Amino acid sequence: MSLFDIMIGMAQKKVALITGANKGLGFEISRQLGAKGITVILGARDETKANAAAQKLQSEGLDAHALKLDVTKADDIANAAEFVKQKFGVLDILVNNAGVNLDGNGDVSADSLRQSFEANVIGPYALTKAMLPLLKASPGGRVVNQSSMLGSLTLISNGQGGNWTTAGYTSSKAALNMITVVLAHELKGTRVKVNSAHPGWVRTDMGGANAPLDVAEGAKTAVGLATLPDDGPSGSFMHLGKTLPW
Ligand code: NAP
Repeated sequence: MSLFDIMIGMAQKKVALITGANKGLGFEISRQLGAKGITVILGARDETKANAAAQKLQSEGLDAHALKLDVTKADDIANAAEFVKQKFGVLDILVNNAGVNLDGNGDVSADSLRQSFEANVIGPYALTKAMLPLLKASPGGRVVNQSSMLGSLTLISNGQGGNWTTAGYTSSKAALNMITVVLAHELKGTRVKVNSAHPGWVRTDMGGANAPLDVAEGAKTAVGLATLPDDGPSGSFMHLGKTLPW
């Protein structure tokens, strides 16, 4: 790293954008990044919920901003890139956390599969592409794709998906993992790292009340990957510091 890079890094407070940040893991990831002195932009598809979440973190003394961002809407993605460019001129961290599990009882229609891919794969990909110039402007851009062990071909084919082995969620998270690998490959030689996180089974609206982990523990993997040092990995799939099989 050059002296110029070090000076830029010291001069600027880091800026992070977290999608699906109005509740659950996204909100907690925002809180933990904010507590590290990072400016956090909380994206949510409902503007009122984005504002409420950002205000809650502001009331805790964090530098939090709200952004209406439905990751399946091209206009919202374009507006998000323009918002970050105008307000900050750089993006250090993008956490593609927003996600859906639409699989219900497991009888997944083609239309439902399409919706899962829109939210869990195409949205994160489109948002990352839109943010790349801003991430490249950072002294160390970090992209975290919030995946799941249920996106691991290895673990699912070993029978470790249990009742969660349903077509829409698993295949969309597997595709998101491949996006991680491909983007990491494409960005080799730049300062941007792209990694997939498995948060664990976490008590949220999606994870349900029986999950063993609370959100504070569940947020740790994404926060760790969002704040990786320059010699950290890119193109990896991690849970609490351990590498998962693809
Ligand atoms: P959650 O409480 O249901 O939160 C999901 C978040 O994603 C909500 O903020 C939701 O917004 C948002 N979202 C959904 N579709 C969106 C869209 N099109 N645009 C923008 N935001 C959208 O679930 P969570 O447990 O915190 O999950 C967060 C991430 O972790 C997901 O990607 C999930 O797959 C992953 N994950 C969770 C677990 C777990 O055990 N909880 C395990 C593995 C992976 P609304 O409030 O508007 O619906």
